[in-house]
Amino acid sequence: MSKIKASTALVNTLKNWDINHVYGIPGDSIDTVVDALRAEQETIQFIHVRHEEVATLAASSYSKLTGKIGVALSIGGPGAIHMLNGMYDAKMDSVPMLVLGGQVPTSVANTKYFQEVDLPTLFADVAVYNKLIEDAETLPDLVDEAIRTAYEKKGVAVLTIPNNIPLMEIKNTVKPKQKVFHQTNPEIATETIARAAQLINDAKNPIILAGVGTKHAKETLIQFSEHTKMPVIISLPAKGIMPDVHPNFLGNLGKIGTKPAYEAMQEADLLLMIGNDYPYTDYLPQHDVTCIQIDIDAAKIGHRFPATVGIIGDAKEALTALIETTDYIAKREFLEASQENMANWWKWLREDQAKTSTPIAPEAVMANIQKIAEKDAIFSIDVGTSTVWSTRYLQLDHHNDFLISAWLGTMGCALPGAIAAKQAFPNRQVIALAGDGGFSMVMQDFVTAVHYKLPMIIVVLNNKELSFIKYEQQSAGELNYAIDLPDINYAEFAKSCGGLGFRVEDFSELDIAFEAARKADRPVIIDVVVDKNAAPLPGKIVMDEALGYTKFEIRSVLEDHRFSKMPPLKTIIRRFF
Ligand code: FAD
Repeated sequence: MSKIKASTALVNTLKNWDINHVYGIPGDSIDTVVDALRAEQETIQFIHVRHEEVATLAASSYSKLTGKIGVALSIGGPGAIHMLNGMYDAKMDSVPMLVLGGQVPTSVANTKYFQEVDLPTLFADVAVYNKLIEDAETLPDLVDEAIRTAYEKKGVAVLTIPNNIPLMEIKNTVKPKQKVFHQTNPEIATETIARAAQLINDAKNPIILAGVGTKHAKETLIQFSEHTKMPVIISLPAKGIMPDVHPNFLGNLGKIGTKPAYEAMQEADLLLMIGNDYPYTDYLPQHDVTCIQIDIDAAKIGHRFPATVGIIGDAKEALTALIETTDYIAKREFLEASQENMANWWKWLREDQAKTSTPIAPEAVMANIQKIAEKDAIFSIDVGTSTVWSTRYLQLDHHNDFLISAWLGTMGCALPGAIAAKQAFPNRQVIALAGDGGFSMVMQDFVTAVHYKLPMIIVVLNNKELSFIKYEQQSAGELNYAIDLPDINYAEFAKSCGGLGFRVEDFSELDIAFEAARKADRPVIIDVVVDKNAAPLPGKIVMDEALGYTKFEIRSVLEDHRFSKMPPLKTIIRRFF
């Protein structure tokens, strides 16, 4: 049998799985793998980022968008440690990722060598598959198994590869081409569908809470809602599964959700949960309701909320079966009342968005994004108040995609997400939205977008502070501390990287900047100086937050330095007598 280098066999296995990209940074302990990738650069694009965290965050976003495995690579030691954040993002948002980590050569293994970190131990918690390659002959098989496991378990597979191993000659076993992994869905029990259909038919105020597990079933969800006249509420990361302007849509639920969604939830007599693991149970019905839950994972049934009927299976298949078995409803008062409530909510939001003041209201910026957004634009959103403004004010269509670090909630995810989005879908418009806090965590990688000619529009809401944390401190009854950020001109930064940059300080300049960005053929940053006092109010204030905020107000009066410099009245009175 002929022989090939283990590194070539590794790359052949990636090709076998239709992997066409790797995000990462080369370096000594992974050089032999990178060299093999260089030889295949026509088929597998190596996207050289500026920080390994961006590599894994981009790989995770790629996977969220395409359903295909995202791949990242790094040296061992510091590079591997940098990768952890994006790896946890993939783990917590349940998407497949392959990570190739370099390691010191086997000849010096376990000698406390330069940059030697025990990677299998480091990655033990984050990985669903975590192997150290000890023999070159096993490398292609283990790459194969790693990818299969990542798909099957929807998580991160890691291979730690000592740098001398890929150079070794191994048997050239040609493997059959792998298809992209497709999970076999559990068969849905017809009796549970019949029982669920009966409960839906009997309900007066039924409501849907749809989550990320419904993303592939957008049309079916809409059809089901129109058939049964059930209002639809979503979890935040499911934004875009139903057009925001659909008459049956009530937005998302939670602290930054809509008021109509919360209120409808509390009036419901039946809750149909589809493909979600919704964590904020305070916002779910606080009274006795019938609950039907559809989830592909049996362990999720009843996980957050007691389920009367659990339908284990794929959301699209279950909804299709329910359309066939439930009664068609021509008119439902509960839906009509919710629609009126929602119309009032939108009216209120539209008034907000019409603000023409300077300092600029973030809501007004959302209106500008909306104006230039294309029908199938991909939105990559950071964590912070940018999450609130975007989920609340942007009206997405179900042809749009919405990317966010939903469970890990890591700041700095918008730019890596935008890089992945443009690389995966070069012909779609990509708009990233971040605060100055989140963007400045990863801003070095704007140059990656420029280098790989990935036109995108990055809107930085620049308020020179960590405003989400400001409100967190206040609602916890704490005084604000360590939230200020320096005034950076991100537009000038963009230009210095070879992109375009617009700094907008006055409302009158907004339109011009967005219009120029829309036409740009390269990455653009629109650095909008926004009002730091713009508070994104929750759709529903829970008691703990209200109490916390009151405590903050009292403490600001009593403990704020300005006030402590004012002598108390008693002291002043003494001077007069
Ligand atoms: P997941 O937890 O990923 O659950 C998806 C479910 O779908 C899983 O149970 C899975 O088994 C199932 N599934 C997968 N495929 C299928 C299939 N084919 N068929 C059927 N089932 C399937 N979220 C909110 O909702 N409201 C908020 O106010 C909110 N605020 C946030 C604020 C910030 C700053 C951040 C960063 C995040 C916030 N989130 C909010 C997100 C929140 O943390 C959770 O990540 C989110 O609620 C989970 O959404 P999910 O349940 O749809 O997704």
